[in-house]
Amino acid sequence: MKILLIDDDKVDRTSIVRTLRDSCYPIETEEVSDAEEGIREAARGGYDLVLLDYQLPAMTGLDVLNAMRETPDSGTAIIMLSHHDDEALAMACIEAGAQDFIPKHEVSVPRLTRAILHARERHRMEMDLRESHEKLRCLAEQDPLTGLANRYVFENALDNALPQAARKDASVALLLLDLDKFKHVNDTLGHVAGDSLLMEVAQRLQAKLRSGDLLCRIGGDEFAIIVHDLDRVCRLRQFTRRLLEALHEPVSINNAEVVVTASVGVATYPECAPDTVSLLKSADVALYRSKENGRNQICFYSHQLHEQVHQRIELERDLRHAMARSELELYYQPQFSADDGVINGTEALIRWNHPTRGLISPNEFIPIAEETGLIVRIGEWVIEEACSQLSRWHQDFPLMQGVPMAVNLSAVQLSTEAFAATVAAILEHHAIAPQCLELELTESAIAENPQVSGRTLSKLSDIGVRLALDDFGTGYSSLQQLHRHPFQVLKIDKSFIQSSTSNDASFLEAIHDFTRTLGLEVVAEGVETLAQRELCERLRFDRLQGFYFACPMTRDEFGRWLAASTGTGQVTALP
Ligand code: C2E
Ligand code: MG
Ligand code: MG
Repeated sequence: MKILLIDDDKVDRTSIVRTLRDSCYPIETEEVSDAEEGIREAARGGYDLVLLDYQLPAMTGLDVLNAMRETPDSGTAIIMLSHHDDEALAMACIEAGAQDFIPKHEVSVPRLTRAILHARERHRMEMDLRESHEKLRCLAEQDPLTGLANRYVFENALDNALPQAARKDASVALLLLDLDKFKHVNDTLGHVAGDSLLMEVAQRLQAKLRSGDLLCRIGGDEFAIIVHDLDRVCRLRQFTRRLLEALHEPVSINNAEVVVTASVGVATYPECAPDTVSLLKSADVALYRSKENGRNQICFYSHQLHEQVHQRIELERDLRHAMARSELELYYQPQFSADDGVINGTEALIRWNHPTRGLISPNEFIPIAEETGLIVRIGEWVIEEACSQLSRWHQDFPLMQGVPMAVNLSAVQLSTEAFAATVAAILEHHAIAPQCLELELTESAIAENPQVSGRTLSKLSDIGVRLALDDFGTGYSSLQQLHRHPFQVLKIDKSFIQSSTSNDASFLEAIHDFTRTLGLEVVAEGVETLAQRELCERLRFDRLQGFYFACPMTRDEFGRWLAASTGTGQVTALP
């Protein structure tokens, strides 16, 4: 056993060394008379125990003890020796980290050897305890997968960062980073692959951080970064961009190259929010927006953004109740034959009568309905309502006999397994001939899941329902789509109708030619002027639709208009 003896009194040292020598243990002793040298010697290590005199000339034993316990690895047991048998002092030394306190007059071979053995044992137990404490702390503070700090540490760090920044008149930026479509990796490559990807991402992000910044994993595929002192927005932007660039390189997992992207929301204190809760909320709002904008991008929080996101969240909440509260309504826009101007089609267009915001256009709420999945129920209601209406008009107005009703569909509806069966049941219930229902789809809706969409489209076609490709000319305008799926109707987008003139109608002429060859019926959308109408008539498109003839009307307006037109049998102007 190796012992360091620190005592300025030579007589005391000699006496203690002799006592140690008389014990039955092989003990090697190093003597030091000066406090500072003692501290240095102890720090050098290699001692099993330090015997420390309390009365030293330059420092008290307590000061020396404190200095020794400050070193990161204070791995040595310490016994304090003193000429005073002072209980309070003894307690103070124990509290400061000594394992024992022996008045010098009590030093004897048995007393000292027992004290040494006990002190060593006590110290070992203390060390074990500290180690398990450390392990527990790691478990409590560390994300076991990536080794990054976890949400608990993140929240504490953010709580501390704001007052600290306030004192220094500095700023703190909070970045929330969420991996795009991570679920897809888990679902297709498995959870082990997902874990490897998360570890790789953690490493790459960590490598881009500056010292003092903190990266935490706060959820499955969600990371948070607390950035200090980057008060210039352009530098913050640069820093964030570098983080995203770090993810560009594909990750190789199970021999597959996985490309991962992320969306980032950024908010800064004190500009965006005055406290941690609202700072987090602000960064979250920004993250939400960068996902909504198509992912793989950075979005900075602003109060205007907050307002927009807030409105969008409210709209989503209200939309969940819109159907039950009968706030959805169908408008109907007629279509006319280019030959004789007689009505030969209608399109049902949904509207939302919002209790406080008034009439909301489908362009605003259909994307929300699609994202939330509400479109499945809403879409079914639209078909049901449109068919029920059409059945009544077929009965009430000879002019409407055999006139089809067009209904717009969303991609999600095509992926619902029972969709075709639902449509068939609705048609049967309202005794509508299948060819009187026209289902309109855009190219992008089909492209979202071509195989599933393809299957549903052929089932629908088998029922006898007509399929229309909507907004042709705005998407891929792919002839392959027309070839691959059983479309019977092509709707030329209004942008083409409106940008063509009688002198420059080459594109419309080309469409006319190939649709004739393919045997497709053509609907011209967005006819607004007499010139456009005449152009479409010249090209002999089958159906014309647009404000020139009629705007979309409520059910009652449409009914009144039909009633007024029944006598003439031909409708070219609205009442
Ligand atoms: P869409 O299917 O292309 O419908 C035509 C849109 O053009 C309608 O807008 C209509 O009001 C408008 N329009 C008609 N004639 C003219 C014209 O002469 N000039 C101009 N500038 N516009 C004209 P709306 O009703 O706002 O609908 C917008 C889109 O919302 C629709 O485009 C359709 O994609 C979607 N939508 C409407 N109802 C439904 C629905 O029930 N389900 C689904 N999934 N989508 C729907
Ligand atoms: Mg349409
Ligand atoms: Mg359209």
